[in-house]
Amino acid sequence: MPLLATEAVVLHAFDYLESSRILRLVTRDGGVRSALAKGARRSSRRFGSAVDLFAQGSAQLYVKPGRDLDTLSAFDVTASRAAIAGDLGRFAGASAIAELTLRFGRDAADSSLYDAVVAALDNLATAPAEAALATTLAGAWRIVSELGFAPALDICGDCHAPLDAAATVMFSHRAGGALCTRCGRLAPAGRVLPPVARDALRHFLEGDAGVPLDDASSRAHQRLLREFLGEHLTDGRPLQAMVLWEEQRW
Ligand SMILES: [Zn+2]
Repeated sequence: MPLLATEAVVLHAFDYLESSRILRLVTRDGGVRSALAKGARRSSRRFGSAVDLFAQGSAQLYVKPGRDLDTLSAFDVTASRAAIAGDLGRFAGASAIAELTLRFGRDAADSSLYDAVVAALDNLATAPAEAALATTLAGAWRIVSELGFAPALDICGDCHAPLDAAATVMFSHRAGGALCTRCGRLAPAGRVLPPVARDALRHFLEGDAGVPLDDASSRAHQRLLREFLGEHLTDGRPLQAMVLWEEQRW
């Protein structure tokens, strides 16, 4: 079995049989993967705190061609990110980031995606509690950008005409972004996007949380992100962690 030695972050973990855990990881050199950590529940010696959510480290994975499940042989933790679990807003945000990565990521090397996830979780671990929501939005949109389906904001998503930065525009999830007046009128559905919200979105796509958002803007941005991701999902399953993050008010 080929060995894959790579940096990895734990995005989901659950118990398997009596003594093992199955981890879902994003890795620098193998993309999104599932790995069996044999005996991880019986002894913490072998994997240390690696089975904890959002921990990052050097992983050694045995990869069987044609199999969906790798075997984790070692995991040396370099960052545990325990601070994320200490605050509900941070934890809900990190869970939404993890879900987005697991649902849209592929099992092929993607160092830009890996770096975007690491940055999003690092920023969340150190963000003040009141900035957790905007930090999550920034992390999520940057990941969307690295995944290659960032929405158009400065040109019309349909006819590609340049858009006035000061204009309130229609945002169509189906068209993949902001629309000019003419295309906006023809679009079957969409959200009205004022210039301030479009500017915030531009910052989010760069991973920049920008200025703090008021409550109404936060809700509008959360809804926009969830609807946008829903439009790009092909399996019809809801984004549960994203919905929980959106419903959570703390
Ligand atoms: Zn247009």
